Amino acid sequence: MKPLFLKNFTLEQLEAWVLSLGEKPFRARQLYRHLYTRNVSDWSQCTDISRDFRERLEAEAALDALAVARVDEAGDGTRKYLFRLHDGNFIESVLIPDPPRCTLCISSQVGCALGCKFCLTGTMGLKRNLETAEIVDQVCHALRDPKLGDKVNSLVLMGMGEPLANYDQVLRALGILTDPDGLMFSHRRVTLSTAGLVPQMRRLGTDSAVNLAISIHAPNDALRDELMPVNRTYPLGELMRTCREYPLQARKRITFEYILLDGVNDGPREAKELVKLLKGVRAKINLIAFNPHPGSIYRTPSPEKILAFQDVLRNANLTAIIRKSRGGEIGAACGQLATRQ
Ligand code: SF4
Repeated sequence: MKPLFLKNFTLEQLEAWVLSLGEKPFRARQLYRHLYTRNVSDWSQCTDISRDFRERLEAEAALDALAVARVDEAGDGTRKYLFRLHDGNFIESVLIPDPPRCTLCISSQVGCALGCKFCLTGTMGLKRNLETAEIVDQVCHALRDPKLGDKVNSLVLMGMGEPLANYDQVLRALGILTDPDGLMFSHRRVTLSTAGLVPQMRRLGTDSAVNLAISIHAPNDALRDELMPVNRTYPLGELMRTCREYPLQARKRITFEYILLDGVNDGPREAKELVKLLKGVRAKINLIAFNPHPGSIYRTPSPEKILAFQDVLRNANLTAIIRKSRGGEIGAACGQLATRQ
């Protein structure tokens, strides 16, 4: 039988559950503090809770929704966690130390239905959505990592899956991750990345203050249709209109992720098209050289081509940063996440 995951509950829902057990309402806040502020890994660590209630928790609820199946570390310090889920599925998260930043990239689905051509996760298809507890627990486990856990200071929902295709669970997880009584991440340090699900983007703008990133990867519909089938449903005109209307807070910008594929989208013509496309949007662009994976038909552009692409954007006064590829040798780089277990 599937265990009850307390990390699926908001504080209010936890209160209702505690009351249903005949316990006092203050127990919910106590539990919430153990789950997140203290991030305990065993009920026995909750010494301010009576033995009776702890035994009940042990019998009726699971503290963790994930188990660490494996941790790999790359030469550059990037760490990849493979997590086993209760139903035998697996997901991955990646911790990227880049002082002063230490970013954890988390997954929102097992696999992904969107099938972007350059992405290994897309080849898995969608197995299922993650529950709130399974999203939040990737962070709880990384924070407990004796190697870098205490350094984690930013989160990106850029791992396996399209977060906005799992809207309700992701939104609830964002609430816990940014709750001052929860995992306490500032919304300025949490970024959700989408391939461009327009209706959910509109909802997110009013439901959450976290940063928004768009996987853009092509500056025109013909090329984007080919690389990212989601573009046939939400073409660039509609996507960019939604970006222009997005309720951004002061000093915030939308990040546009652009994977450079040799001879496909990395020429001066595409760079100029991208400049035109981003007109009127408070944008910054992350340029990422394609990370090859087994079976992929794309190649990585030369450093000269990447610099030339960046120059076109910079000459148009756009902020364009070339992102170093991290953790490639352990399959942890952007677009390389997929589990074959
Ligand atoms: S790039 Fe993102 S949206 Fe596209 S297939 Fe991969 S995980 Fe899914």
